[in-house]
Amino acid sequence: MRQMQWTVSLQRESDVDGEPLATFTRPVDGATVADFGLSLEEGRQLLQALQQVVVQSQIHAYDHARRHCRHCGAYRRIKDWRERVVATALGEVRVRVPRVVSCLCTPEPLDDDDMPMYRLAFTECPIQRLIPSRRTPELSYLCAKHGASHPYRVAADIVSEITGLRRPCHRTVRRDTLSCGQQLEDAQFMAGWYAGQTQRRGRAQRLRLAIDGTYLTAAPGEEVTKFEVVAGRVEREGGMGRRFACALPRRSMTRTLVAAALEQSGWAPQTEVEVMSDGAKGMRSLVASVAPTLSKPTLDWFHLSMKIHAVRRSLGAYQMAPTRRPAFMAASARSATKVRDHLWRGRTEEAIELTRNLIASLQAGAPALSSFYATVAETARGAATRLLDYVKQNRADIVDYNQARRNGQRISTAAAESVMNHVINRRMSKGQEMRWSISGAQCLLQTRVAMLDDRLVRHFHAQFPHFRSPEVQHV
Ligand SMILES: [Zn+2]
Repeated sequence: MRQMQWTVSLQRESDVDGEPLATFTRPVDGATVADFGLSLEEGRQLLQALQQVVVQSQIHAYDHARRHCRHCGAYRRIKDWRERVVATALGEVRVRVPRVVSCLCTPEPLDDDDMPMYRLAFTECPIQRLIPSRRTPELSYLCAKHGASHPYRVAADIVSEITGLRRPCHRTVRRDTLSCGQQLEDAQFMAGWYAGQTQRRGRAQRLRLAIDGTYLTAAPGEEVTKFEVVAGRVEREGGMGRRFACALPRRSMTRTLVAAALEQSGWAPQTEVEVMSDGAKGMRSLVASVAPTLSKPTLDWFHLSMKIHAVRRSLGAYQMAPTRRPAFMAASARSATKVRDHLWRGRTEEAIELTRNLIASLQAGAPALSSFYATVAETARGAATRLLDYVKQNRADIVDYNQARRNGQRISTAAAESVMNHVINRRMSKGQEMRWSISGAQCLLQTRVAMLDDRLVRHFHAQFPHFRSPEVQHV
C-alpha cells in the first residue's frame, strides 16, 4: 500500500541544520475525503511541538544572556535543571529551566530590581522573571474574555476547546476575569477623578447617555440581600460610544465611573449631555452631579404610549368589528384616540382636559350598559385615571413628539433598556438564580464592558507591548 510521508523541521536563523519537529503520513491507495490535509488535532499537535521548541530555545537564549553576574561579571555556575510546565494558548509545554548558583559579590543579595532579597537563597532561577506565573498573558486574555461572556464553568470548557489545554479550573477563569476587571476599574477611577481636567483635542459638543439600573441578588455574607447595578452607554454624534457598568454600593463611586465614561467619550464642562432614562431611580440626578449641562428632559414616549395603550385596549379600539360594540364604547374609544393625538403633538393641557371628560363620561355612562360592558368601562376608567396621574406628574417633560421625531431626536429610551440587556442581563441573568458578591459583580462588569467595546485587547497591549503581535512572515 503506497503512502506519503512528511517531516516538518524547524531551522533557527543562526543554525545550519534544521531540527525535525514532527512527521505525519497519508495513504495514497484507498484514500478518502477524510485523508485530505491535516485534521484539527494534528494541526494542534504540530503547533504544540513548535511552541515547545520555540519556548525552550528562548529559555536557553535568555539564560545565556544573563549567566554572568550583573555586578561583578563573574560566571554563575548552573546548579541543576528543573522541569517546568508552562500553559500557553497553544497548549501545555514542558520545558527545562536552569537554576544557577548565586554570586555573593554584593554585601547582601539583590534581586533584578537591585532591591535586597528577603529570602536568602544561594541559587536562583533567571527564568522566573520571564514567566513568573508559568502561563502566558494570551491565556489570561482568553479566560477573561470568555469569563465575561459565559458562566465561568462554560468559559473553562471553551478555553480548553480553543487551546487544547486540560480544562482549566473555573476558579482560574474567574480569577483572570476579575483581576482584569480590577485593573480596568483602577484605570477608570483615575480617569473619573480627573474628568474634565485633561486638555485634549476633539471635545464633543453634545453627548447622549443611555442609563438604566437593575438589582442583583447578593451572595451570602454580603451586608445586603440585593444590590443595584447601573449600566449605560455614551453615544457621540450618533456613533456607538463607550459602555459602562457599575455594581457599587455607593452612588458617589458610581458617579466617578460615569464621569470616566463621559470623559473618555470627549466630555468637557461645556458639553451638553442628553440623558435617556425612564425617569425613575434618580438616574438623571446621578448624571447631573457629574455633567452640569444637561439637555431639557423629555418624557419617554414609550412609557407614555403604554399607558394610553391600556385605555384604548380596554375600550376595544383595536377590535376589527366596532359595530358590535355599544355606540357609547365606540365614542369613548374615539376620545381615547384623540387623547393620544394631543399627547403625540405635545398639547398636554388639551389631553388632560379630554382625559378628565373621558373619566367622567365612563363613570356616568356605565350604569346604562349591560354588565359585561359596565365591567369593561370600569377597567377603562381605571386605566384612564392612571394615565391622567402620569401626565399630570410629568407634564413639564412632555414635548411635541411629532416635531421631535421630524428633527431626528430620539423619543424613546428603548436604547437604555437594550444596554441593560446587553451588558448585564445576558451574563448575570436573574433567571439563572445566580448570587453575586458586590466586588465580584463589579470586576466582572468592568471586563464585560471592555470586551463588548473591543477594549480588552488594548488593555493587554498596554501591559505587554508584544501581546498578540502579528510577526509571522510567510516564506
Ligand atoms: Zn557578582
